[in-house]
Amino acid sequence: MIRKLIDRLFSPKKSAGTQGRRMETPGASLGIDPSRLPNSALTVVRSLQQGGFEAYIVGGAVRDMLLGLKPKDFDVATNATPEQVKPLFRRALLIGRRFRIVHVMFGREVIEVSTFRSNPDEPAAAVDGDERDGRKLAGRHHAVDTSGRVLRDNVWGSQEEDAARRDFTVNALYYDPSRDLVVDYHHGLRDLKARTLRMIGEPSRRYREDPVRLLRVARFAAKLGFEIAPGTLHPIASQAELLRNVPSARLFDETIKLLQTGHALASLDNLRRLGLHKGLLPLIDLALSQPRGEAFVMAALGDTDARIAAGKTASPAFLFACLLWPQVGQRWAQLQVEGVPLIAALDQAADEVLAAQAERLAIQRRISVDMREIWALQPRLARRSSRYAYGALEHPRFRAGFDFLLLRARTGEAAPELAQWWQDFQDADEAGRAELLEQAARGSPAEAPKKRRRRRRKPAGEAGDGAAPREDGDGGDGDDRDAAPHDGRPDHA
Ligand code: ATP
Ligand code: MG
Repeated sequence: MIRKLIDRLFSPKKSAGTQGRRMETPGASLGIDPSRLPNSALTVVRSLQQGGFEAYIVGGAVRDMLLGLKPKDFDVATNATPEQVKPLFRRALLIGRRFRIVHVMFGREVIEVSTFRSNPDEPAAAVDGDERDGRKLAGRHHAVDTSGRVLRDNVWGSQEEDAARRDFTVNALYYDPSRDLVVDYHHGLRDLKARTLRMIGEPSRRYREDPVRLLRVARFAAKLGFEIAPGTLHPIASQAELLRNVPSARLFDETIKLLQTGHALASLDNLRRLGLHKGLLPLIDLALSQPRGEAFVMAALGDTDARIAAGKTASPAFLFACLLWPQVGQRWAQLQVEGVPLIAALDQAADEVLAAQAERLAIQRRISVDMREIWALQPRLARRSSRYAYGALEHPRFRAGFDFLLLRARTGEAAPELAQWWQDFQDADEAGRAELLEQAARGSPAEAPKKRRRRRRKPAGEAGDGAAPREDGDGGDGDDRDAAPHDGRPDHA
């Protein structure tokens, strides 16, 4: 009894079933400069506060500001429900089903506003129709599947509860720009300083609730260069299997984040170190187990990281086209050995690989359409005749297709001269292009030696190291479709 009283005195805001004690630290003392926050985020926080609600910048943006990194985007957390948030803004959209949030638009910028939610395992979790602070609480008890995975996540809660259901301590920091205060319930500031990635709560239970957190460990450890706390690291090996439970669309979202954050190589490295790459992209397992496939994937991810470091973007289609290429290339070679014509073989290889991949990680259709175009450009780029070259150059996916060819050339799969020829062709004026085409027709030094073409017909074993056949001849290998302009696809040029 007395013990309880003392506990309550010393942790006044600690409510039953939630761990974590509220600590407030002035942002200025941590190096946060509120005047450097974007207007969009400030406007959202202030409008909510003026509407009588609590509102904070939360998660990645706070973490990155404290680390002196430039936040990718700004998320806001509030005690207002989505229905209460929406009318406060002129351009706001209610989105999501599993996780209902509001997107407030400022030009092309989006501020994501989410309502404080409770952790599914908290006994305090609200049920449909409950009232808290005079607000109707939406949602029902958290639905959980047999493995403990949370299926729905719309149970509103307090800020303290919201902090507890976040993943890592450094991702659960809140910043109120009006009062210049950082709010921390789980020693996120301490972990930030020690550069430690630590799961909030009991890690193995948190992985069970949402296995995607396994991938997030790999991503954040790579992005932040943090050590993984032993307790957070330890259960991963035995829980890697849980990823099989994750719906393929969700896996896609998280994988894209992992690949596009500028630390794709380091993230993939972490995934392998943690034993998580298996089953995530099953076809990548294969790619990585073959030296040339691995070289290709690594080169692709290294390029992606360099692009992002240079302030450019990396399209998901290009990324996935790279990741799945070792399999597509290998299958393409096999099918040709079996007598399927060049272009038809590539089509079929793409079909098969995409279908196999879709079982685990659903690549959106618009992305897979672009991937196919990038692949289909490869044999087209091997043909340097006026009949094909101009059309290829005007293809909407030419740039991606050419970048892809560069990568293939760098990893020894296409002739470097071919890549150089296309570089020159792009740079040249009309006369220069005509000259280049003539050179190609004459079989200039840029031309691949004839005997190389025979490699394509070798048994599949040869390409069994995960590399695609070298496709740097000028066609004419007896495949009648080979001679068809634009490889039988609609002409985009
Ligand atoms: P980034 O800068 O890479 O976007 P981030 O921290 O903003 O990093 P997001 O994936 O955008 O990462 O998620 C935003 C926040 O939502 C996180 O900081 C974390 O607090 C919370 N969060 C996201 N996904 C999960 C999850 N699966 N489990 C628990 N909390 C999560
Ligand atoms: Mg984010």
